[in-house]
Amino acid sequence: MKVFDEIESDVMSYARAFPRVFNKAQGEYLYDEEGNQYLDFLAGAGTLNYGHNNPIFKQALLEYIEQDGITHGLDLHTKAKREFLEAFSEKILQPRDLTYVMQFTGPTGTNAVEAALKIARKYKGRENIISFTNGFHGCSLGALSATGNSHHRGASGVSMSGVARMPYEGYLGDDIDTTAYLDKVLSDSSSGIDHPAAVLVETVQGEGGINAASVEWLRNLQDVCHKHDVLLIVDDIQAGCGRTGSYFSFEEAGIVPDIVTLSKSLSGYGLPFAVVLMKPELDQWKPGEHNGTFRGNNLAFVTATAAINHYWSDDKFAKEILRKGEYIEQRLEHIVETYGDGNMTTRGRGMFRGLNCVSGELAGKITSEAFRNGLVIETSGADDHVVKTLCPLTVSDENLKKALDIVEAAVAKVLRGEEVPEEHDFFAEGSDETESLADAA
Ligand code: PLP
Repeated sequence: MKVFDEIESDVMSYARAFPRVFNKAQGEYLYDEEGNQYLDFLAGAGTLNYGHNNPIFKQALLEYIEQDGITHGLDLHTKAKREFLEAFSEKILQPRDLTYVMQFTGPTGTNAVEAALKIARKYKGRENIISFTNGFHGCSLGALSATGNSHHRGASGVSMSGVARMPYEGYLGDDIDTTAYLDKVLSDSSSGIDHPAAVLVETVQGEGGINAASVEWLRNLQDVCHKHDVLLIVDDIQAGCGRTGSYFSFEEAGIVPDIVTLSKSLSGYGLPFAVVLMKPELDQWKPGEHNGTFRGNNLAFVTATAAINHYWSDDKFAKEILRKGEYIEQRLEHIVETYGDGNMTTRGRGMFRGLNCVSGELAGKITSEAFRNGLVIETSGADDHVVKTLCPLTVSDENLKKALDIVEAAVAKVLRGEEVPEEHDFFAEGSDETESLADAA
């Protein structure tokens, strides 16, 4: 680890939890230099929904490079960009009756959030943005203002303004509808909350601890936005691209945000890529106003097109995600019932699930034990108290079972010091879907 210790900045984080030198990856597998194999349930923090080096995308990429296709294109029109826009329009937007225009931003999620906030403020002529407790939107200053986490906020060195925080669903307990509170403060000219340009929300808060908003809450939120002439921005950077069981995470709620941010798994291959989708009337940018050298990552366009064409031409993939998600839920529920002390719970939607251990120390011990047994899996939440099962959506049934066996064994060992019986039949009382998963495995 010499060179990393010597010259890499202390800002590194994941490398501390997984101190190996990785040199190869395929599908849901990661390999280190010593040849050890790991199942990757971190998957680039939601960037590798289709696995590492997905062979379909790799082939498209290799052919493109071989033909000297454009790699870097600023925002020039290119063939690769045209094909991406056509695929996205035909396979993603049109079947969902969505009429967004697409802005190519700098290739990180945080830059897409910056652009979304800027266009919302510009369009409405108001500064204030509402974001939510435990929300995470990135680490550049504008996005950081909307991020809740004090660890990240503390590093800013300047005051962060222009954002007011509201309680996310469940923050004040199960019986309180926090959208009613939002409605109340927006209706009251003396609430101290300035009339906002937009509300920025994650449908499932990833970094915030897999807090999944209900469809009712999301619909109510949209109603409140409409009532008060406020734009609704869904930050779908982590929850989008299929993670919850549909391409966009808001589809199940039947809402239509005014603005959507996408990044992470958009390119499919782990290549940097981020966009803002906005209703056409919001597109009030002047040429080059939100600029950036790397808005034309054509290699990402190639793999993103392959991802859309291969996985989103019909609903087969979405059904698979729901089936596997149900299996993950059952396994996590089983862990809670068997080993939980009454406080442990499960969370999430689709294949965006987590085990809420309440204590960060406990969750950390579980993920460390899992790593010793060949599973790369991380925590999230304010106190890192949620074990987050963020595996590739393409994971095989066999490996999904294997990884959850490792999680269960880690929980059993950490909480009870016991080993789990090897031939535990997790499928015995499963639903039809889960049984078919067992059959396939
Ligand atoms: N928004 C959400 C919901 C995220 O989960 C993240 C990253 O985890 C971001 C924004 C920031 O993306 P990036 O790390 O690419 O800047």
